[in-house]
Amino acid sequence: MSRTTPAFTIAARRVLVAGGFDEASVSIVDGVIAAIRPFDPDADVVLPDDTVLLPGLVDSHVHLDEPGRTEWEGFATGTAAAAAGGVTTLFDMPLNSVPVTTTPEALAAKRAAAAGKLAVDVGYWGGAVPENLGSLADLAAAGVVGFKCFLSPSGIDQFGHLDADQLEAALAEIATFDGVLIVHAEDPAHLHGDGALGVHYADFLATRPPMSEQAAIEQVIEASRRTGGRAHIVHVSDGGALDAVRAAKADGVRLTVETCPHYLTLAAEDVPDGAGAFKCCPPIRDRANQDLLWVGVLDGTIDAIVSDHSPSTRELKEQGGGDFGLAWGGIAGLQTGLAAIWTAAAGRGIPLERVLPLMTEGPARIAGQPGLGEIAVGAPAHLAVFAPDRAWTVDAAELEYRNKLSPWHGQTLTGRVERTYLAGHEVFRLGEGVGVRAGAEILHTLRPTGAER
Ligand code: ZN
Repeated sequence: MSRTTPAFTIAARRVLVAGGFDEASVSIVDGVIAAIRPFDPDADVVLPDDTVLLPGLVDSHVHLDEPGRTEWEGFATGTAAAAAGGVTTLFDMPLNSVPVTTTPEALAAKRAAAAGKLAVDVGYWGGAVPENLGSLADLAAAGVVGFKCFLSPSGIDQFGHLDADQLEAALAEIATFDGVLIVHAEDPAHLHGDGALGVHYADFLATRPPMSEQAAIEQVIEASRRTGGRAHIVHVSDGGALDAVRAAKADGVRLTVETCPHYLTLAAEDVPDGAGAFKCCPPIRDRANQDLLWVGVLDGTIDAIVSDHSPSTRELKEQGGGDFGLAWGGIAGLQTGLAAIWTAAAGRGIPLERVLPLMTEGPARIAGQPGLGEIAVGAPAHLAVFAPDRAWTVDAAELEYRNKLSPWHGQTLTGRVERTYLAGHEVFRLGEGVGVRAGAEILHTLRPTGAER
């Protein structure tokens, strides 16, 4: 469908521009922000005073699982959930689709599956697995934004994990085209317990101790230091691991890290018995740990807050009668991320403009898309209308996900996405749902740099 829309202007008393809120009118021409002018009460759209105009969110860590596991999510439902959550650009992970995105042919299959279904813009991560090391440039040339790898078993047999030597080889190879390697950092040497564990969350938590993350993150830091390759740690859950990240960044290691709304807003102490919706790897840890993560958010150690939306079926989340060892790991959080984070941030006295860049510009940079995630002249007109004081109670049944499960189910959150614009198209309106499928693909061409960095 055409991305061209009639020119129009949106005015609001609070527009997030250049890091702060100010009243403004945003003019949109051909899907792009053409001008930002003083507030105009006669604009085509004048937002109510209890709403703010935000850049559309960017989520660099989403598992849509299509093709192959569309019973888990899929492009149609997943991108609808994104639009309803104010997310206008997401980047799909190379697993748990079938095939996994580790070859150009698999990427082509994924792109074919996405065609016509996208409510928001979508880019793709490729996978770095033992079988495709040495040929990553082919997949890069096909359009992935970077590469994902695991240092521990991924849970998917087709997506093997890298050992220490392979990690270093992948970083060195990806550095030749200045790409990024994003790493699931848990060290299998420090993971225990396979099979049934019972319904108590603490027994699952004990199987994936902080040391498993700390050891793996140290390994990534050293490999990045030696190769000069750009590395990104996905979903850090252990706040104790951040000191090593701080030190590495200060040393000039090319490292970024992300955490997720579930680690910043949910705590191990509160996980009910048998509640598989809360299981993910690495795990949600305790409240004292969560405080350390918030320190990392505020001091710049953490670069991005992204959903790691990784749903599966209710049967897989609840198998074994709520046994935490048997439940599939993965949190469904794409639609509720902004509200959950804002509720927690406000409770800590942190203003919206402090955390929002970690959900917009931060993930955009990690995915190699600088300039996305901002309200600025020349930027695509991706916008979210957010009512920061509006309270609502999460009812999983009302979420756009294919599987109506959420660890925030029943929680009252503050802040609601009321409207979402993608390239000037209104793609979501609260009460009316998701409309046009105006999403486009983001293909990224990584090219050889011709020089070792
Ligand atoms: Zn993930």
